[in-house]
This record gives sequence, C-alpha cells and structure tokens, in this order.
Amino acid sequence: MKTTEQISSVYANVTRQFDKAADLMGLDPNIRKILSKTTNEIVVNFPVRMDDGHIKMFIGYRVQHNNILGPYKGGLRFHPAVNIDEIRALATWMTWKGAITNIPFGGGKGGIQIDPFKFSKAELERITRRFTYALGNNIGPEYDVPAPDVNTNSRIMAWILDTYLSTLPPSERARSTHVVTGKPVEVGGSLGRDKATGQGVVFTIEEWAKDRKFDISKSTYFVQGFGNVGSWVARLMKKDYGATLLAVEDVTGAIYGKDGIDPEKLTAYVRDKGGVVGFPGTEAIDHETFLGTQADIFIPSALENQITARTAPLLNVRMIAEGANGPTTPEGDEYLQAKGIDLIPDILCNSGGVVVSYFEWLQNKRSERWSLKEVDAKLRKKIVEAYADIREVAGEYDTDWRTAANIKALKTIELVYQERGIYP
Ligand code: GLU
Repeated sequence: MKTTEQISSVYANVTRQFDKAADLMGLDPNIRKILSKTTNEIVVNFPVRMDDGHIKMFIGYRVQHNNILGPYKGGLRFHPAVNIDEIRALATWMTWKGAITNIPFGGGKGGIQIDPFKFSKAELERITRRFTYALGNNIGPEYDVPAPDVNTNSRIMAWILDTYLSTLPPSERARSTHVVTGKPVEVGGSLGRDKATGQGVVFTIEEWAKDRKFDISKSTYFVQGFGNVGSWVARLMKKDYGATLLAVEDVTGAIYGKDGIDPEKLTAYVRDKGGVVGFPGTEAIDHETFLGTQADIFIPSALENQITARTAPLLNVRMIAEGANGPTTPEGDEYLQAKGIDLIPDILCNSGGVVVSYFEWLQNKRSERWSLKEVDAKLRKKIVEAYADIREVAGEYDTDWRTAANIKALKTIELVYQERGIYP
C-alpha cells in the first residue's frame, strides 16, 4: 500500500516552522533576516586509505547556523543520506535547542555522507580522524563543539578529541578537551551523557503526564529507531515507570510483542545481532502496521520526515514525544493538531543530549567530575524549566507546542541581538 508522496526538504520544513513562529510573535524583521540564513557552511572532500590499499574520497559537512548565544554546538552524523540541506536544518534546530534550554550555545551540525556499517573499524577510525583534520580550526572548544548523533558514539568522539589535540601545541592540549562532548567517561566524558537524550525525553513525558493526570505506569508505547535515543527511552520508560513497550522499528524492520517487549533484553539482542528483527517472542510487522500500533505514546527516535500527510492518519496514539530531530513534517503537524494528538516537539523533547553536553563541557573547563546524581538532577531541572516556559508561551499565543518552542527560542535570541546590535 505504499504510495509515493511528495515531501519537502528538511530545511524547507525548518523554514516553515520558523516563519509561522516569527509571524505570530512579530519577530524583528532584521533579526529575521539574520536567523533565516546559516552563518558558515563548511564542505570538505577528503581522501582516506582503505584496508586494501586504495584511496577513497569522502564528503563531510559542518554547518554553523548561529553563535550569538555561545559556541556553535551540535552533533556529527554518519549516514548515506547526509546532505547540505539536512545539515542546515539540523544546525538551525540546534540554535533553537540551546536557546530554549537556556544554555550558552549556538547551533551547528555536521556529518559525513557514508554508510558506516560498510567499513572496518580501522577504516572508520581513519575516516573520522581525516575528517577532523580536514575541519581543522573550524571546530574548537570555545568555537564549535561537535558531539554524537546518528551512527556516531563515544568511541568516535574519542578519535576526534585525540586528532584535534594532536594538532595543537603540547602546552594547549590539556585545556582543550572540551572541543567535543559525548566522550567516553574515562576520556573526560560526563556520567549520564550516554543516556541523556533518552532521559530528557522521559522527563518531558513525565511533565506531560503530570499536566494530563496520566498514569505512565499503566501506559503503552512504541519506538522508532533503536540507537542511542530509542534504546535508552525504551529502557527508562520500563525501568522507571513500568510502562509497556509494544513495538520497535529499526533499519532491519519492525517487531510487535502483544504481551510487551523487554527493552533490556532487546538492547542486548541488538548489540549482538545488529537489529531488532527476530527478537524472540515478537512477530515481524510491516512499516504501516508498525505506525498503526494502538498505544498511548509514540516515540520516533530515528530520522526526519516520518510523520507526514500520508502517515499521520495511520497513528493510533494519544501523544508523540519526538526523540528524533524533525520526524514530523508541517503537513503531519497540521493533521495531528486537527486530531488533537499531543506532541512534545523535538527541540524540547530531545534537548537532554545537548544539555548534558553542556555539563560535560563545563566539567572539562573546570577540571571537575560530577556524580550521576548531580547530572540527573541538573538535567531534570533544565527540562522542567524549559517545559514550563513553552507551556506558558503556548498558552499566551494560543498556539501549538512546536510553534511555542520556536517562539520561545526566537524571543531569547531577539533580545540578545537587540542589546548587542549589529556590527559595525
Ligand atoms: N546530536 C544531539 C542533538 O541533536 C546532541 C548534540 C550535542 O550534544 O551537542 O541534539
């Protein structure tokens, strides 16, 4: 039953969200001009020697959207679909994310157009190191700070750190470890960073549940994507609340467990087998059936443009928590709003990752190590505050939560521009 659907580019979606918020709040037209462009777009083509001795060329990107609030900040993704339009969109969302969580970061994003599963570990290391070298001084601890994103992890961050530090004079290395966040804990990473995005998603669901007098412990949920975000959300919803996971989809396919799926066991299974399909006690289902799963909460935690004009009507849920960036198109949004399905927008819902990146950055700068309890408590406070701010804006402007989150970000940034002015 697949029909072809025209879906606009991810950056076109960002622009539409931005225009809606800017119109509603009456954003200063000059500041609107500035924010509707990215500041810098770095595209690098770089050579890497493969295991068999031949040289392969790769294309990598780093887009720096805005740094009025602080250093550019955002992840690096390794995915075959990476392109400049997508990275532009993701960089812009990072600017809004920093603004609504009140952390001193601007927005950036980058990546390599590559299927990382097609390369050996040694090749992936050389690709990562050569990309870091190619970016050169376009990144830096007080300038632009990368982090993990789709298909990148703490090991890759450690290679970036090591490569970047190796290019510095020895005397500058020890004080530059905050050039990248999401590092392994032994290498200067923060406790709680690995689960941070998932933890933040769960904190937003908790706030929503309080508002709605909804009992999470009796709830059912399903998750798209079982990488860092999806697997952590799935585990925390079960471990901390006893909620029931009904279905999961990843690149290998979708599974359904009528009596619930154990997310801990599924995580171990995926680590071993590379995907969710075949997990004992579940049946394989197709994509449309997966989206139609009857549950309370859907948590998309994979890629963009999943909830569209065509797929939104398939959903049978009460609420959507956007663990992914940009999973819903503007047409998808319109449908959900008309149907009265609640949505916690990406820039709020998944902001836990960048918030704990900020904590890691601070710990590195101060040569401190915070306990997990401290990190979790600080993260919860940030998420609860951002959630309350956006609820207030949504009420004040009588608008949907995505638009409210955008307005909140734009108001924060507008004020800084108005106070600083434009040089010269
Ligand atoms: N890639 C994550 C995001 O989209 C984390 C970014 C960061 O920690 O800088 O928010």
